[in-house]
Amino acid sequence: ELFGEERRNSAGVNIEIASQWQPLKEQINAMFEKQWKGGTIFNGAVEASGPLQAVYCPYDRQRLVGQVQWASAEDVTRAIDAAAEAFEAWNRTPVKDRALCLERMADLMETHRAELIALCHLEAGKIIEDSVDEIREAVDFCRYYAQQARQQFGEPMLMPGPTGESNELFLEGRGVFACISPWNFPLAIFIGQVVAALVAGNSVVAKPAEQTSLIASRAVELLIEAGVPAAAIQLVAGEGAVVGNAITADERIAGVAFTGSTDTARRINRALANRDGAIAPLIAETGGQNAMIVDSTALPEQVVKDAIESAFKSAGQRCSALRVLYVQEDIAPRIKELLTGAMAELSLGDPSLHATDIGPVIDARAQSMLQEHIAAMREQGQLIAEAPLAPEVAERGYFVAPIAFQIDSMNRLTKENFGPVLHLVTYKASELDRVIEEINGSGYGLTLGVHTRNETTAQYIDSRVRVGNVYINRNQIGAAVGVQPFGGQGLSGTGPKAGGPRYLFRFATERTRTINT
Ligand code: GLU
Repeated sequence: ELFGEERRNSAGVNIEIASQWQPLKEQINAMFEKQWKGGTIFNGAVEASGPLQAVYCPYDRQRLVGQVQWASAEDVTRAIDAAAEAFEAWNRTPVKDRALCLERMADLMETHRAELIALCHLEAGKIIEDSVDEIREAVDFCRYYAQQARQQFGEPMLMPGPTGESNELFLEGRGVFACISPWNFPLAIFIGQVVAALVAGNSVVAKPAEQTSLIASRAVELLIEAGVPAAAIQLVAGEGAVVGNAITADERIAGVAFTGSTDTARRINRALANRDGAIAPLIAETGGQNAMIVDSTALPEQVVKDAIESAFKSAGQRCSALRVLYVQEDIAPRIKELLTGAMAELSLGDPSLHATDIGPVIDARAQSMLQEHIAAMREQGQLIAEAPLAPEVAERGYFVAPIAFQIDSMNRLTKENFGPVLHLVTYKASELDRVIEEINGSGYGLTLGVHTRNETTAQYIDSRVRVGNVYINRNQIGAAVGVQPFGGQGLSGTGPKAGGPRYLFRFATERTRTINT
């Protein structure tokens, strides 16, 4: 618990949070004065030969957050050289010691939470609640994978065999693992991938999204402080076309963990297949075209609360986010009315303020792609509601006001629109199978929401829609580590699921040892 145990006073106010928040808020504010310098970290120090990039804040375009040192293709090769050299010793380090590094990392992130929250606001534009969740998730990944690794890698599995023979099965690291992570969870997903690879015995070359390299490089500094040898964790910052390509072209890369778009996952897969050298696994967590199915027995107030959170929280920039809300015709008018009322109350603005519900989208490119999609929807669909966006807020940063349209079918959506745009489709009770077909027909399979008070309907839908995570009568975002293992199928990814008990296996290789005793 980041803020300690919850306690409420007689008025229901959480006094623990209230009393701890003020000093933390002051520490966060003090961080706003800082200019960060980060980026490529070679053997523990910020160093590379690529260009120096200025980082500006997505909610205040004029505001300089810091400088990022990008890597060149030669820097990537040098980082892989160093990681390859570090591999054997790290792989031989007992798993309990590797796990301890992850636990120390968890503690260090809690100690440095003010700085990490400030970076979530300034570099990624995340609101307070999302920033707190982000750090908590990163901490959870460290503690969970440490515990899993001790159980799974600690002792060999004893296999049966004839008398006079012992057979043991071990897990160990594969070599240099590449971790390529997105900007939407710049700490949690970055750290989740990196520590999973490390605790399994691999050395790592990590490439964060170019939009969020500062928080990633701070995290790598903390990992080294936590005891991970500096050579075993190399960070290469920069563009995918330079840095990403140099990583996936290198024959020494023994595996890749990637979270991002389906197209990029395909490109990585092709690049890995085109190399000579070892055949490397790809663990990909990609996009979604996520739906929620609402039948006429659902509770409208609950549906709207969950739909708003699922579609608009984090400005819709989650791969789990709700994109298509299927509502049974009978209750559609009520849902639209409540949705309109609730969306009018959403407040967009400075993510470091408590009053803000929705922060900016990540950058100008994301904003203009969303604006393009919204313009197309204004033509093809019917506007239901649009959240208010004050001109002075809009002028300062990359804001997109949450918006909802009614459309006739999910088939109108040809790509994932990564932002706060909700599409509503109505259906008749007799058309449930068509809805299920449409969802499966998209080829994606990440999250699904179901709202119904009819258990048979819930079971019917659950057993027919092919997705990785189904959420019944709740929102469909915010999978908790070790509780809701997260990841999709089809166009949405390869598995195994992040934060799940089988994740570490794909980072490892197996060895059987047979001894004639
Ligand atoms: N795990 C996150 C969630 O459940 C989504 C991760 C992502 O967007 O890649 O909301």
